[in-house]
Amino acid sequence: MKTYLITGGAGFIGSNFIRYMLKTHKDIFIINVDKLTYAGNPDNLAGVLINETNYKFYCYDICDNEKIKEIFNRHKINYVVNFAAESHVDRSMTSTKEFIETNITGTVNLMDIAKKAWEIRENEYIDGVRFLQISTDEVYGSCTECCSEEAPLNPHNPYSCSKAAAEFYVKCYWDAYSFPVNITRSSNNYGPYQYPEKLIPVMIHNTMDNRKLPVYGDGMQLRDWIYVEDNCRAIDLVLHKGEPGEVYNIATEKKYHNRFVVDKILTYIKGEVREDMIQHVQDRKASDLCYSISTKKIREKLGWNPSVDFHNGLDNTIQWYLDNKKWLDKVLKNPPR
Ligand code: NAD
Repeated sequence: MKTYLITGGAGFIGSNFIRYMLKTHKDIFIINVDKLTYAGNPDNLAGVLINETNYKFYCYDICDNEKIKEIFNRHKINYVVNFAAESHVDRSMTSTKEFIETNITGTVNLMDIAKKAWEIRENEYIDGVRFLQISTDEVYGSCTECCSEEAPLNPHNPYSCSKAAAEFYVKCYWDAYSFPVNITRSSNNYGPYQYPEKLIPVMIHNTMDNRKLPVYGDGMQLRDWIYVEDNCRAIDLVLHKGEPGEVYNIATEKKYHNRFVVDKILTYIKGEVREDMIQHVQDRKASDLCYSISTKKIREKLGWNPSVDFHNGLDNTIQWYLDNKKWLDKVLKNPPR
């Protein structure tokens, strides 16, 4: 039986990943370490908390050296997948230090403890263990041409800077110690259980509550949207089949303007789009106009392809929020400070 340490598993992608793994693989043990910030929600895993033989939760901070060591001492961990992060660009503008602490220091702390537990020695590659860092296409900065994994990193906001900095440490642990790592850089995810501070759940929630939809600038920002389960499948593949030390982009290679997404949500819920339903708000100074990444590598080397068409995936997501109003009301009762 393989043991997976999943950090940030009570958040959006992490909880979907745990569901995906328990559904897809038999005979695995999942340890979820999550500090339960405003974005972490045990309800995201309702129904998954099957029993202590295949799942265990620790409410710990990934920066807490002693607590993370305790987990490694107690369990024989084969894989670490590091989702834990401060993940909201807007908040990174005002709480930059929290982003540095969790996204950079927390990542290094996890690697240091795993390196010791796995008895990694320089120039001695160990098979059967892997550290997977979940990163983002935002590290490339705004680009109109498709970035391959070799493109230079050019982050523009404190969130993407912290993710890029963490990546440099992850890569350097491979280069310097043969500590077996991978990095995935995915585009924007959407799907069930996403905290309503990111574009799609915010727009759905506002529409449900008959409030105006706040659109940054003219809404012409281009994003590549990937359905969260397609990302989980890619992460699973990279973890088990990825070449150690390698980075993999994950996206659909289809882009939509934010305004297009907003109009689709209005049409699904209200049956119409009227300009008085929209409120244009000033865009962030560090906002990137377009993210664009190539997925040639993961498609050709690992045989991955996205399976969910954006139109269907978005309809399913909207319907999920309409069907789970109680979940939405509950998370919003405990807003971030
Ligand atoms: P999220 O904000 O929904 O979840 C983050 C989780 O991490 C929460 O459960 C939170 O409680 C936990 N956490 C935060 N600080 C912690 C700490 N110090 N110790 C332990 N747990 C902590 O984020 P998400 O959208 O699920 O993103 C997950 C990862 O994927 C992040 O690393 C993010 O950078 C990356 N990513 C996200 C997207 C996206 O579209 N959401 C796209 C690309 C990459």
